[in-house]
Amino acid sequence: MSFLVTNIGELVTNNPAVGEGPLGIVRDAALSVADGRVEWVGRARHAPAADRGLDAEGCAVLPGFVDSHAHLVFAGDRATEFAARMAGEPYTGGGIRRTVSATRAATDDELRENVARLREEALRQGTTTIEIKSGYGLTVADETRSLRIAREFTQDTTFLGAHVVPAEFTDRPDDYVSLVCGPMLRSAAPFARWVDVFCERGAFDADHSRAILTVGQAAGLGVRVHANQLGPGPGVRLAVELDAASADHCTHLSDVDIEALAGSKTVATLLPGAEFSTRSPYPDARRLLDAGTTVALATDCNPGSSFTSSMPFCIALAVREMRMTPAEAVWAATAGGARALRRTDIGQLRTGAAADLVILDAPSHLHLAYRPGVPLVRHVMHNGVLIP
Ligand SMILES: [Zn+2]
Repeated sequence: MSFLVTNIGELVTNNPAVGEGPLGIVRDAALSVADGRVEWVGRARHAPAADRGLDAEGCAVLPGFVDSHAHLVFAGDRATEFAARMAGEPYTGGGIRRTVSATRAATDDELRENVARLREEALRQGTTTIEIKSGYGLTVADETRSLRIAREFTQDTTFLGAHVVPAEFTDRPDDYVSLVCGPMLRSAAPFARWVDVFCERGAFDADHSRAILTVGQAAGLGVRVHANQLGPGPGVRLAVELDAASADHCTHLSDVDIEALAGSKTVATLLPGAEFSTRSPYPDARRLLDAGTTVALATDCNPGSSFTSSMPFCIALAVREMRMTPAEAVWAATAGGARALRRTDIGQLRTGAAADLVILDAPSHLHLAYRPGVPLVRHVMHNGVLIP
């Protein structure tokens, strides 16, 4: 069964070989799909015949968004903490422990329903790939079940047992790191593709972070790091040292950090929803891009510091607040996210790629930033299937 999307006013392929600029834009385009993959891309007048079709009515079509950083396995919410912060209280990350208590008390079904609800919410806004972290269980059993549930929704699951030191280990963080590196990792690894650490003052220092990431790597997991969010620190350099796929947040960077990122394969994943929701200064995307770093955008969807699942919102923030061009932001939210997950099958619309795409209710990708807060995603296709 083949499917043709035709009458596309502006097709963003992210393949400069077939279209204009870094987004590889093809105008008056069509795209055909078979067996969940992109089969053909080009000018509409050259389109092949297909069994079924959809008229895009001159609108823009983009690769589905790739949200490479999300914390969806949790229970409860922290709306009152958000309100307190907006009334002037600083964000310290301490609220994570409240979510840990609620998550431990929840049943598997409660956690699963919450992930399903958020996954659906993201999909309707055009997110066709999402990474999901554990990190609100912080016991062997709770981290393992978090990842088991996450695995039902994505192949990109991340073990984040080193999110914070849980309350019962406050006076003996070394013991907690031993637990994470030993029994917790052994139990969680079969359900994870990645290992991640919150490398930050008040969470895990460079030595603890390196120990955890290194044993994760030895267990076959790829590395990602929560780095330099709340202040300067060793996270970014550690990420580069360990050839992490991504260093996430990158809000407080030195020249050395930027040089290290620019000379590496590690993507700088920026999460402007977190700065928005904690009323903090945004990362300097311009400095990263001008240095030649690969930049991704993701939501950081979590109940404390960034409770948004909307990639279009993050694109709008990146353009307005971080001086990214609309094209840079769209690339970062699609191809950039794919790079941050070291995947070549998503984030672009070329022959053989996953048929993951969004059809906007707008003539151009520019409208994602130009019309902030407006639901512009008209249709979403995931693995060749139009989401009803
Ligand atoms: Zn995070």
